[in-house]
Amino acid sequence: MTDACPHNIEAGSYLLHMLSQEESDEFRLHHQHCLSCQREIIALLPGALFLEELRADILAAEQRLCTERPVLSTVAARELSALQRVHPR
Ligand SMILES: [Zn+2]
Repeated sequence: MTDACPHNIEAGSYLLHMLSQEESDEFRLHHQHCLSCQREIIALLPGALFLEELRADILAAEQRLCTERPVLSTVAARELSALQRVHPR
C-alpha cells in the first residue's frame, strides 16, 4: 500500500493489549486521525477478537479445573451414596 504509516506495526500490539498504558494512549490518539492505522486495526480485528475469546476460554477452563469441578463432583458423589443408603434397592 502506498499510504502505509510507520505506526501500522503497533496496531496488532495495541489490539492484543501488549503496549504499555502510555503507548496504548498514544496509539489511540494517533489512530483517531490516521486512516492507514484505522485500516490496519480493521484488518487485524477478527484475529485479535479470536485470540481474546480463546484466552477467556482458557482462563475459564483453568478456573473450573482448579476449584468448582472437583468440589461439585465430591458433593455429588456424597449425595448419591447418601441417597442409595436411604433408598436401597
Ligand atoms: Zn498511523
